[in-house]
Amino acid sequence: MSKLREVRGDFPILDQEIQGRKLVYLDSAATSQRPLQVQEAVRQYDNRDNGNPHRGSHTLSLRATEAFEGVREKVRRFLHARSVKEIIFTKNATEAINLVAYSYGLSQLKPGDRIVLSIAEHHANLVPWQQVAKKTGAVLTYLYVDEEGRLPEKELDKIDSATKIVAMSHMSNVLGTIFPVKEVIRRAHAVGAVALIDGAQAVPHMKVDVTDLDADFYVFSGHKMLSLMGVGVLYGRESLLETMDPFLYGGDMIEYVHEQETSFNELPFKFEAGTQGIEAVVSLGAAIDYLEELGFDAIHEKEMELLAYALDQLKALPYIRLVGPSDLKDRGAVVSFVVEDVHPHDVSTILDSYGVGVRAGHHCAQPLMRYLKINACTRASFAFYNTKEDIDALVRNLDEVRRWMGYGSR
Ligand code: PMP
Repeated sequence: MSKLREVRGDFPILDQEIQGRKLVYLDSAATSQRPLQVQEAVRQYDNRDNGNPHRGSHTLSLRATEAFEGVREKVRRFLHARSVKEIIFTKNATEAINLVAYSYGLSQLKPGDRIVLSIAEHHANLVPWQQVAKKTGAVLTYLYVDEEGRLPEKELDKIDSATKIVAMSHMSNVLGTIFPVKEVIRRAHAVGAVALIDGAQAVPHMKVDVTDLDADFYVFSGHKMLSLMGVGVLYGRESLLETMDPFLYGGDMIEYVHEQETSFNELPFKFEAGTQGIEAVVSLGAAIDYLEELGFDAIHEKEMELLAYALDQLKALPYIRLVGPSDLKDRGAVVSFVVEDVHPHDVSTILDSYGVGVRAGHHCAQPLMRYLKINACTRASFAFYNTKEDIDALVRNLDEVRRWMGYGSR
């Protein structure tokens, strides 16, 4: 039995019926649900402290500033960054990657330079680099996964002296694979390149230490780790951020503005133009408190229990082909699969009629789908608030999907 305390009561959204059946939410990799504690923190902020941070000297603006900067310090500690100057709030992980692509990539790269990505990248960590490559003449090189969805070590040899940027996800949103990012970063540094790690799927599930990883950039989205939508984080090495131009221009990111010239604010404000989504930032702080109170060891243990159970159950279904590692090694609680002869959209629509919410499609990873020679797949993703009964419901109703479509189940 897992050490995790009872958490279901914190998530009232899970206690409802969909189409007359108990809701089974298996789409936390798309967005996680928000516990009462996070909702309450936002309510208190709204009812007591709301003002525009950094904009006024009246009490509410000062309280808002305190709340905003308090979360920045919390995120710094959470990621083990050295300084709050290295923590930049963005709208989401996508915006954080675009910030680096535009403010670092466009100015640093020249024709023939190499940008190295894994084939499993989410479009958020692929399309911006493609645009940078098109605009600068740099080339994109992909590292390919093996049949189990893991990265063979020899692929890392593609990180060569022409490489200037390596951009890779910490955990794949499709395969569930946890990539060897510490080694990837070491290889990048050995050839003088910088490494950006997309932690959107990793941060909700594991302790991340950007200093130990020696990451140059590390990004994530709040809404996948219990907070409101509308906040993301860019961690950036201070020495790199100092040399980069702002990404967006406007209020709050300036020092002096003259008719023809402007000087910019210091880090991290140089990268935070305009009014930020402070409720989302407040909720991110409460989400970090909540996750730390549960403890990542207990969260990991529970999620691995669920993952092991799900893999065993799914492997027993003759009509299922797993997409991604079939064992627990270096893998998180995301399980993608193909149901023989049934389109993933039919799988998810029929499962929904039994109350089971999963994601179907290309999962914003079209190059990966093409490489795997599939058009789409179905993904079940787990969080610590899921139960073994949720997985039983998934498996039981996959049999129903096959029956509905006129095929045998098992
Ligand atoms: N990277 C990965 C690995 C993801 O799974 C996602 C979200 N599916 C993103 C980036 C983008 O996150 P957001 O849409 O919150 O910017």
